Amino acid sequence: MSNLRILVVGASIAGPTAAYWFAKIGAKVTVIERFPQLRSGGQNVDIRTAGVSVMRKMPGMEDAVRASLVPVEGISLVREDGQSYGIMKASGDSEQQSLISEYEVLRGDLSRIIYGLTKDHPNVEYAFGEQVASIHQEQDDGPARVEFMNGRTTSEYDLVVACDGAASRTRAIGLGCGVRDHISPINSWVVYFTTKEDLLNGSQIVQAHSAPAGRFFVVGPEPSGNNRAVMMGINPRNGPDAVQAFREANKLGPTALKKYVAQYFKGAGWKSEAIIRNMIESDDLYGSEMIQVKLPTLHRGRFVTVGDAGYATGPTGTGTSLALAGAYVLAGEIGKHPHDLAAGLKGYEQQMRPLIDEMQKIPPLVPAIMGPQSAWGIWLRNNVFAFICWSNLPKLMHKLFGGASAHTNDIRLPEYKWAA
Ligand SMILES: Cc1cc2nc3c(=O)[nH]c(=O)nc-3n(C[C@H](O)[C@H](O)[C@H](O)COP(=O)(O)OP(=O)(O)OC[C@H]3O[C@@H](n4cnc5c(N)ncnc54)[C@H](O)[C@@H]3O)c2cc1C
Repeated sequence: MSNLRILVVGASIAGPTAAYWFAKIGAKVTVIERFPQLRSGGQNVDIRTAGVSVMRKMPGMEDAVRASLVPVEGISLVREDGQSYGIMKASGDSEQQSLISEYEVLRGDLSRIIYGLTKDHPNVEYAFGEQVASIHQEQDDGPARVEFMNGRTTSEYDLVVACDGAASRTRAIGLGCGVRDHISPINSWVVYFTTKEDLLNGSQIVQAHSAPAGRFFVVGPEPSGNNRAVMMGINPRNGPDAVQAFREANKLGPTALKKYVAQYFKGAGWKSEAIIRNMIESDDLYGSEMIQVKLPTLHRGRFVTVGDAGYATGPTGTGTSLALAGAYVLAGEIGKHPHDLAAGLKGYEQQMRPLIDEMQKIPPLVPAIMGPQSAWGIWLRNNVFAFICWSNLPKLMHKLFGGASAHTNDIRLPEYKWAA
């Protein structure tokens, strides 16, 4: 097993985690990333359930995450005038987390932490500014020959692992499909950015407000003292495609996207004017369509997908944990079948399927809770939230508002023997 040569594509969460665990089975790992450096952007991602288990198996990671936690005390839904309907707090128990995770961390910080745990390992090499151009596998059981886009020498690998996110181009190359094949749209979109002003006046309570037509915006604290903001356009899941204009604006770049989002949120009440102003002035706007990736199989020949590239979860909030779990299970299964890569890949698929199915479940109430379309729907959602906060029923809160993560607290990952 120690002679395996593995190419990992993408250096965000899944990629560096896969590198960590592949190094543990003695494989030689090359991680390539399209961007010229590690990407620092993104807002809070939370680590839950199986993600917590993997984190605790990586010495030093939990302490590093705890040292980088975003100072969030709770989340509140607010009226037009900023008055709160109630505050939902973290549960204080990593085994029974609420809507607010015990491990809320900026995506860029989490990526940096896992990269830091792997970058000096003698078996791991990172190459930035590179992408896969083609993958050829001549014999069924032979290595894959990979050509690169930006000058890296064509090389053979025993396994190519796509960790390049929900819109993975490597997935399309490796599975021989289109980039949008196997994507299940949610008919909604989201943009994230850092504000230049503190719109929360020092509060560590995340504040969220809804306006009719599924316009939902959230402002939260961030360690530097300014805020992280999220603006979402949530549309009925089975309604007509309402994301095309967003897709086009996003493709054109930040200026077009800012113009589109500003127009969309015009007159949305509460602090919408200040939020729009900060969005326009931001220099780290990141926009993405909310999608789920549903592959009939996670691997083909010497090619396999991990993280969002294989099973993006969309709005359930479990994508980061699933990516951590997937990277661990893939390396564990391959290590368990040292002379049979195909059996390792099959084991990975078998272990991951139930987890993916569970974590991709979007409870029927979630779209209505996140983005009520009418003023009446907003009123109802806010008052249910107020009642739950008032009655202090944390389990009910999590069940109604916590999405798929509410059902997965008891997930147990397989244990593996690690050679190195
Ligand atoms: C910049 C950024 C900001 C994000 N912000 C948030 C957020 O605020 N909240 C949230 O819940 N989720 C966010 N996400 C998504 C979140 O990180 C993932 O849902 C989850 O953590 C699973 O991670 P992943 O590693 O599978 O995929 P991703 O985090 O999407 O990472 C994919 C990586 O692959 C790289 N890549 C893409 N195409 C190629 C290619 N062809 N060749 C080589 N490399 C490639 C990307 O640059 C990226 O580094 C963000 C992702 C990114 C990239």
